Amino acid sequence: MSDRGTTSEGPRLSRAAAHRLSLYLRCLTAWPSEVEKISSSQIAAAVGVSDAQVRRDLAALGHLGQRGIGYDPRELTTVIREALGTHRPWRVVLVGVGNLGRALLRYQGFRSQGFEIVALFDNHPAKVGESLEGLLVRPLSDLPAVIHQEGAELAILTVPREAAQSVADCLVQSGIRGILNFAPVVLRLPPHVPLVTVDLAIQLEQLTFLVQHAHETVSPPLDE
Ligand code: ATP
Repeated sequence: MSDRGTTSEGPRLSRAAAHRLSLYLRCLTAWPSEVEKISSSQIAAAVGVSDAQVRRDLAALGHLGQRGIGYDPRELTTVIREALGTHRPWRVVLVGVGNLGRALLRYQGFRSQGFEIVALFDNHPAKVGESLEGLLVRPLSDLPAVIHQEGAELAILTVPREAAQSVADCLVQSGIRGILNFAPVVLRLPPHVPLVTVDLAIQLEQLTFLVQHAHETVSPPLDE
């Protein structure tokens, strides 16, 4: 992904920059509504990156803020949401209603951020037909029709690693636009379908690495 440039859906950002924007948004959400300005150094301190990094990231979104005065938190929130695509709701299907899938289904944070899980899928005969959180668990054969009817654009994949690639292929063939994969496997998807993988064991591995080397260096991990 290139770091600059503009697409029909907004400015092109690197994944690292998009991740920082999500963190800035968290900071803005917690910002007291009566405080009408926020400075790059206040955002930087809250998020743990340098002041210059915040200014660079926000400059890439357009002419925002005034030197010496700061940014309007509401305007910044709107612009960052547009850049990230969360200025509008997204409809999501979840495939694999095992322990992790059910936990994600119950997680309230998705809905509050504009992500609505609209359909559930599984291939286990005992699970198909079950109702979870008011949604029917459907067989995979229903994927194309349901994705179309529900206008779902994203999928959460919580099937075991052995099943993940074939289910991902079905999702792509059914017209899904992006996949959030929780299976601990590297998936191959066509370039027009973006993939984000959350491998919880890798995250823990990264933590053990950092813990082992914590005494050696102290550097801001999110700066580029
Ligand atoms: P449980 O014991 O309830 O099945 P689990 O978290 O141990 O939970 P996993 O083996 O990780 O289950 O599987 C996650 C879910 O993915 C299960 O509900 C399983 O039925 C489902 N699943 C497995 N293979 C497929 C597939 N090919 N298509 C759709 N769903 C699948």
